[in-house]
Amino acid sequence: LEKQVIASEKYSAIGKMAAGLAHEIRNPLTSIMGFIQLLVGQSKRDEREIPYIHIIYHELQRVKKLVSDFVLMAKPSVPDQKLCILQDLLMEVVQLMESQAILKNTTIRTQFYDMPLTLCIDPIQIKQVMINLIQNAIEAVGDHEGTVSVSLENDMTNQKAIIQIRDNGIGMTEEELRQILNPFFTTKEDGLGLGLSVSYRIIENHQGTITVCSEKGAGTAFTIVLPIQNSK
Ligand code: ADP
Ligand code: MG
Repeated sequence: LEKQVIASEKYSAIGKMAAGLAHEIRNPLTSIMGFIQLLVGQSKRDEREIPYIHIIYHELQRVKKLVSDFVLMAKPSVPDQKLCILQDLLMEVVQLMESQAILKNTTIRTQFYDMPLTLCIDPIQIKQVMINLIQNAIEAVGDHEGTVSVSLENDMTNQKAIIQIRDNGIGMTEEELRQILNPFFTTKEDGLGLGLSVSYRIIENHQGTITVCSEKGAGTAFTIVLPIQNSK
């Protein structure tokens, strides 16, 4: 028990540091990005500079994402929970990801339990998890035709909602599977390796579980189980 307390204290110290650092990085970043947009808008711009400006902007966006993901991971934020219909939330995320999927020849299939499932969750955080998982699935499928399936089931006996995201992409080796929750673990050229650690944190804060099954060359399935609080 004592070990546990020390560990969580250490975590909150890191969390505070991360939040402080993030604040100090975000402010100058926001003004830099603002000024870059101003530069782009100027009429007497040398054409040759434009690609450079785009690279600068893109890289700054990456730093911004890194900072916010790092804070989410290091600082266990208390979910801002409200009653949400899970089907609506999932549909919103699927629609958001659809354009990206189409560009890569990937189809997103949905199969949702047909009665509205109302859960007490932080919609922004749960959406973030779904975006992370669907994004990974689309990336795993690559450029060849593939399918990403998002399903929602109702486990009535245990009062739980079961969300599954499946893909028929590259899959993972056991060695990779062991490491996916380590912050900064990535097998992608421009990956940050924070998406899954952040998602794990968020689901943990919602008293849920997240599990994964994967086979190299065949595909991957992530399963999220969230408690349905009875509000009736
Ligand atoms: P990132 O996407 O930035 O690499 P993540 O934390 O989202 O970071 O994922 C970590 C790693 O887990 C990925 O680099 C990849 O190796 C592996 N991974 C995650 N989801 C999948 C998936 N659906 N199929 C295959 N590998 C995956
Ligand atoms: Mg990812």
